[in-house]
Amino acid sequence: MISVAEAIQIVREHTVYLGSERVLLSDAPGRVLAEDIVADTDLPPFNRAQMDGYAVRASDVQAVPVRLRIVGESAAGKGWHNELQEGQAIRIMTGAPVPHGADAVQQVELTHELRDGTVVEILESAEAGRSIVTQGAEIRKGETVLRAGVPINAAMVAVLASFGYAEVSVGRQPRIAIFATGTELVNVDETPGQDQIRDSNNYTIEAYGQLANASVERLPLAGDEPTTLARRISKAAKQSDIVVTSGGVSMGVYDYTKTALKKLGAELSFERVALKPGKPTVFGRLPNGTLFFGLPGNPVSVTVTFNLFVRTAIWAMQGRSEPMLKQETAVLATNIRGTKDRESYLPAQLFTNDDAQLVAFPLKWGGSSDFVAFAAATALIVVPAGVTNVQAESIVKIIRMSDTL
Ligand code: AMP
Ligand code: MG
Repeated sequence: MISVAEAIQIVREHTVYLGSERVLLSDAPGRVLAEDIVADTDLPPFNRAQMDGYAVRASDVQAVPVRLRIVGESAAGKGWHNELQEGQAIRIMTGAPVPHGADAVQQVELTHELRDGTVVEILESAEAGRSIVTQGAEIRKGETVLRAGVPINAAMVAVLASFGYAEVSVGRQPRIAIFATGTELVNVDETPGQDQIRDSNNYTIEAYGQLANASVERLPLAGDEPTTLARRISKAAKQSDIVVTSGGVSMGVYDYTKTALKKLGAELSFERVALKPGKPTVFGRLPNGTLFFGLPGNPVSVTVTFNLFVRTAIWAMQGRSEPMLKQETAVLATNIRGTKDRESYLPAQLFTNDDAQLVAFPLKWGGSSDFVAFAAATALIVVPAGVTNVQAESIVKIIRMSDTL
């Protein structure tokens, strides 16, 4: 049995970057940036007014009130391009260029116009630089503003748009083909007969796959017959970069996923991980090069193993520089138990206490089959292998489930 860290390392070693493609900016959110983004202009590109008001020479408005002659107007998109002289003011709008000669903007609320708008009385003094963002104060032309390897969020879209990226280079999305094994399963739109249950794993895996930005193909239920399984795996591999199945990897008589893989000549890198839940997780490569993840059948094991292993592969294939979920720390609210020989991942809810500490509150749950209780989790508490008791108030490692969304 290998550790979770070793298993993740093996997955990373087997995962290759799929290269990049160009997409329209509107299709970029959620994709992984594949090029460094460099500013093609200063920001702001000119000295910019931060307020509606009057552009003035600060030296003119030290003794107030003072009257200045209004000699023009500078609006956003239509500036006033002369030199402001002593005793003069320019009516200016937010976002407009500040004219040469002016070194302060006094906001309109601290002024008032006289004589049909030809004169303005400045009521409060303004120091040089007031309400002006100087050219290049935010970013200088040529600076790198975003690095390849980050997922593009909505705020970054503003950056890309501002520097002229109508199209942007992003990592290719891996195609993942998924199907569930298990004779007991029926589809979500069917009523389970005797001894049957509805399949949920196919949908969970599809959801997590889409959240990690893979292109997901959900295939029909496959049953538990080794020849059929081999045929289904091999067919799925032809049309995908990753095949993910659930169920059939434990020690039961009808657990045939590994039998099918061996029939196909797959090269298995691991078959057991020191992980709870998720010990029987299988990972390997099919003869055509497609990666294969055989996740356990229990729905909670599926969530944990998908997010530790499959997600890492999906992100790495897209070129994400940090493909793994981040670990943070929190204060444990109640005593918990770990496992002697495996790292445990326990569902929890996070909140902040009155001392501004992040607290992890373990959920009551019935184990790896209890997906209803698990659905309330906002984080997983990670308990190292060999630590059987963890006392309340201890500092524990956690992984936020919200990071998977
Ligand atoms: P297995 O690993 O195939 O023995 O499955 C372990 C447990 O997970 C069994 O109780 C299964 O009924 C359940 N299970 C397996 N596959 C699914 C699925 N696709 N959806 C919901 N539960 C499942
Ligand atoms: Mg099964």
